[in-house]
Amino acid sequence: MRKKIVAANWKMNMTQAESARFIESLLLELGDITDVEVVIVPPFTALAKVMEALGASQSIKVGAQNMHWEPNGAFTGEISAALLRDLLVRYVVLGHSERRTLFSETDEIVNRKVRAGHEATLRPIVCVGETLEQRDKGNVEKILSIQLRGSLKDLNEKELHETVIAYEPVWAIGTGRNATPQQAQEAHAFIRHTLREMSDESTADRIRIQYGGSVKPENARDLMTQPDIDGALVGSASLDPRSFAQIVKAARDEK
Ligand code: PEP
Repeated sequence: MRKKIVAANWKMNMTQAESARFIESLLLELGDITDVEVVIVPPFTALAKVMEALGASQSIKVGAQNMHWEPNGAFTGEISAALLRDLLVRYVVLGHSERRTLFSETDEIVNRKVRAGHEATLRPIVCVGETLEQRDKGNVEKILSIQLRGSLKDLNEKELHETVIAYEPVWAIGTGRNATPQQAQEAHAFIRHTLREMSDESTADRIRIQYGGSVKPENARDLMTQPDIDGALVGSASLDPRSFAQIVKAARDEK
């Protein structure tokens, strides 16, 4: 049984004060949640504040939005896995489509980061997904296969199991247009099939695959009741604690 994982990707939003207020409201909404894994992914500048606001609460984890693959050195403006671990960060989102398109990240770069993350015991959330043009040309499976095989190259079974995949069709991110539950399930089933080919059945069956792309309280439940959808990576709707809490509860309700 895979434990659902719901993550809030705040992108380049939220001051320290806003982050602290968000966590305070979220804790009130969710209480001590244990049946869904919740991850808050703030900008680097709010990581410490989110940690502080979470206090003794063990149930909500913190993730970063990106990192460099080198452990340290002359890389002005970059953050390493070791620096994130120093803040007790547990997850890192890698290969988000905004990083792939706006910052030219290739599968090879994503793979370097994924391996560096595992070396530092950070758990990567690796994003894959096709553009609308690629979907219209019937290339969804081809693109997913290339991105998965490239981004997850040379991982052992333990590392694969500790990696979370986020299927994020690019055309659904920030557009208000989500994939239908059937479209998302088809892509997730294909991702799991590819993971089976890359490892073995029991490893692939334990890897969690989140859906991301305009997830909101109104569509979260229908998406997360699909057999291969193990949670959500939420952008816009994660900026409001009440909406985000409703999405987390939708993951919990279906059990
Ligand atoms: C995202 O950026 O990861 C995302 C899924 O954004 P949104 O929910 O706004 O589509």
